[in-house]
Amino acid sequence: MSDGDNKPAAKVEPLRKTRPCAECGKPSAREHYPFCSQRCRDLDLNRWLSGSYAIPVSDDEARAGDDD
Ligand SMILES: [Zn+2]
Repeated sequence: MSDGDNKPAAKVEPLRKTRPCAECGKPSAREHYPFCSQRCRDLDLNRWLSGSYAIPVSDDEARAGDDD
């Protein structure tokens, strides 16, 4: 094999600025950006799926004349 591919195995730091994980606040990992791990990624997705991130409805519209 004369590939000549002799790159050093040094790990390249991400140029992107690391942000705290959106779930737990730990430094995010590049692979899971903007989360620190697959777990936090799943947590966030589950939250979306379970509706906790529901679009806020204006109180006035939601209960128009339904109160008091
Ligand atoms: Zn996290």
